[in-house]
Amino acid sequence: MTGAMIRLDRVSKHYPGQQAPAVAELSLDIAAGEIVVLLGPSGCGKTTTLRLINRLIEPTSGRVLLDGEDVTRADPDQLRRRIGYVIQQVGLFPHLTVADNIGLIPRTLGWDKRRVRERVDTLLDLVGLEPATFRRRYPKELSGGQQQRVGVARALAADPPVMLMDEPFGAIDPITRERLQDEFLDLQAKIRKTIVLVTHDVTEAVKLGDRIALFGEQARIAQYDTPAAILAAPADDFVASFIGSGAAIRGLRLLPVGSLPLDPVEVLTGDHDAGAVGADSADGPERALLVGADGTPRRWLRPAGRPGLAVVGADQSRYDALDAMLRARDDTALVVDAAGAPLGTVSWSAIARESPGEPS
Ligand code: ADP
Ligand code: MG
Repeated sequence: MTGAMIRLDRVSKHYPGQQAPAVAELSLDIAAGEIVVLLGPSGCGKTTTLRLINRLIEPTSGRVLLDGEDVTRADPDQLRRRIGYVIQQVGLFPHLTVADNIGLIPRTLGWDKRRVRERVDTLLDLVGLEPATFRRRYPKELSGGQQQRVGVARALAADPPVMLMDEPFGAIDPITRERLQDEFLDLQAKIRKTIVLVTHDVTEAVKLGDRIALFGEQARIAQYDTPAAILAAPADDFVASFIGSGAAIRGLRLLPVGSLPLDPVEVLTGDHDAGAVGADSADGPERALLVGADGTPRRWLRPAGRPGLAVVGADQSRYDALDAMLRARDDTALVVDAAGAPLGTVSWSAIARESPGEPS
């Protein structure tokens, strides 16, 4: 790959007193604007690799190139202004306010007060925290999710082209984590940074990565490819066992429900009852839906007696569709467009039939 934003060229790290190197001759190219996830078991060298990129750790041998420039011997302070860093435990300074935490690097760069203040407010907005409410708070006055957002804002403060994130959602409860992951992807769609993100969680890697570098011992690359390619065709037994038995269902997260052929649905507005539409079901579609005057889907009229209504957006994944069906205790989901208007239905069996199945 030419024009890689980050290039690791046979980089090794041998910690003093350790028998084996933590990172052995790692070569890896990371393209501009991509999220590359470093995935692998505990102790395989993910954090070491991340810190070799911004030279918090000096390599024993090899070279690190940033945007084509060899930075292996560049001034580390200068280098770190071009690279935002979000560490695992967020690492906000407890005695500094949110604004002072975020403004740390701009202040060391000598920005004047007004410019720092404006930047802090812009970043708080960007990460979904109301500036007037949050800028004067201290870290201990924030939830885990809010602290994590401030950590991201701080890493973005000097607008670096590159962000390194070490298990950024690791310490956060599962529900908040999913929301933060979604927000993070929305944010990246706007800012298009080159991001290297460390995780040991396969589901997170599949969700967030444009590419996944799956590491074995000593940061040896077992496979470096898109999540879809890794799930569909694991390179060897190590990769297959690491991604685990849930590969087929994880793969459904990558496939939109709207790419399936949809079954037609009869839509009735107002106060129809089940009996009235049940009568002509022989020639109508299998499913008939009652829609309120405001256009929102209400319930199934046909087949009669269906309690739950599973609704999924056409741009949501097949995994989301199965999840909605399970929650509604139905084997069919209603697919709606961005405005919430019904497009058709998709069945459990259609997803099973039309999706990739066993990795080859
Ligand atoms: P990961 O982030 O994938 O869990 P690390 O990069 O933290 O792995 O660690 C890789 C290996 O290097 C491990 O065997 C770890 O014990 C060792 N290691 C990490 N940091 C140090 C250090 N400062 N000194 C000595 N050994 C270290
Ligand atoms: Mg680590």
